[in-house]
Amino acid sequence: FQKLKAGLSRSSGAIGTGIVAIFTKRKLDDETLEELEDVLIQADLGVATATAITKRLAAGRYGKDVTDAEVKGVLAEEVEKVLAPVAAPLVLDGALKPHVILVVGVNGSGKTTTIGKLAAKYRAEGRSVMLAAGDTFRAAAIDQLKVWGERTGVPVLARPVGSDAAGLAFDALTEARAEGRDVLMIDTAGRLQNKAELMAELEKVVRVIRKVDPTAPHSVLLVLDATTGQNALNQVDVFGKTAGVTGLVMTKLDGTARGGILVAIAQKFGLPVHFVGVGESVDDLEPFAARDFARAIAG
Ligand code: GDP
Repeated sequence: FQKLKAGLSRSSGAIGTGIVAIFTKRKLDDETLEELEDVLIQADLGVATATAITKRLAAGRYGKDVTDAEVKGVLAEEVEKVLAPVAAPLVLDGALKPHVILVVGVNGSGKTTTIGKLAAKYRAEGRSVMLAAGDTFRAAAIDQLKVWGERTGVPVLARPVGSDAAGLAFDALTEARAEGRDVLMIDTAGRLQNKAELMAELEKVVRVIRKVDPTAPHSVLLVLDATTGQNALNQVDVFGKTAGVTGLVMTKLDGTARGGILVAIAQKFGLPVHFVGVGESVDDLEPFAARDFARAIAG
């Protein structure tokens, strides 16, 4: 929790400074409520949550002096209400050999890093893991996944740049199956610039791995970069339609003032949130906990 709190300190700092500025020796009236609503919307929390918070304050405390601590308390409670229903662990089906996790998201969102962190976590739990370097467009992505594989002691199936991603995914699943592995994580390309191509490629990967296992992929994780703010809403929309996303991971919550976007995403899409990334190293992935997140963001 301390790490998450430190990570979200810029988000909570931006909100907190706004709240303190508004409520230092001031009453709760139309003007202060409107200012508060602006601060919350600017922090990417979304209009619905911002309104819920100001309405609740207005209902109980209108015309009275309120402290910033009281406002932060209401903020934390309302944020937790939105996030609690979506907080869900990523459950691996132990009967599946392997449980196939397709990892999607735009380039730079943190897919490869998240796969590396998860590989380390699953290894530590005693599971047998394999990775497939399915972002065959970028040499750097392939190399980076190999580095994570070496670091975590997990085999990586990789091919040269330009190879067919679906073919690679097919071979990876065939091999993981033959070896009785518990988890196969497949990295993918994330060129959102060309939506039609991206869609076609993801569909092909899914179609082809289903020839090996008709129930795969068992999880489709969308990795979102918190620093992109409002843009993340659009990414959930596009990948949700294209890839049949089953759950979210939000990265880079350390060092951004835009952690509030997760609240807006939860409100709008109701997709499960499994993990949050709070740094670049292997341990910087935490299971998503609604109360901790809400308390961290309220400061
Ligand atoms: P991909 O293109 O989606 O595979 O993204 P990468 O995994 O290559 O990540 C892009 C950059 O973001 C890299 O420099 C990562 O080290 C960094 N990164 C990933 N996750 C986090 C995180 O939670 N916090 C921070 N600060 N950086 C991250």
